[in-house]
Amino acid sequence: MAASFERYAYMSPKLHPVESPEKGGHGLIAREPIQAGERLLVWGGAIVDHDRLKKLPAILQRRSVQVDDGLYLVTPVKDEPADYINHSCAPNAGLQGQLTVVAMRAIDPGEEVCFDYAMTDASPYDQFDCECGAPTCRGRVTGNDWLLPELQERYRGYFSTYVQRLIDRSVERVRPSQIAWAL
Ligand SMILES: [Zn+2]
Repeated sequence: MAASFERYAYMSPKLHPVESPEKGGHGLIAREPIQAGERLLVWGGAIVDHDRLKKLPAILQRRSVQVDDGLYLVTPVKDEPADYINHSCAPNAGLQGQLTVVAMRAIDPGEEVCFDYAMTDASPYDQFDCECGAPTCRGRVTGNDWLLPELQERYRGYFSTYVQRLIDRSVERVRPSQIAWAL
């Protein structure tokens, strides 16, 4: 008999989910002070490839996260509060590994906890026009945002291991030609 779980993910008791229709349904709010570096979420679920992902209901696709080349983590339930975390172009949380979300700075009670999808996404499975309202809002969130040098700088240490590996590889690819140019 298959085991069943009420929850697939971990969510810090310092967070609580709220309705947020203007942001696609929900959001996560800090209910008490959070320190920089504190663990907030550990996502869980099932791993699917791109073909399988595209056949899933839109809501599950939207709440999935890319964890490796062509592989995505999907929570096989409609309501998993850890998946309610929204994107922001001025995030206060980032990734550690592939599945763990930590605070990038101290977060006050009442603040929404957000990460930047550029920290996890490197394919165009979830692109959208962003209205996060941050002064640094880039207007459109795409699967190529991790390539932007300013984001690589700003989120250093907070990209998922998968995206960091892509960044490291892209730097290695660029370096020889830069050397040739400099010579
Ligand atoms: Zn934005």
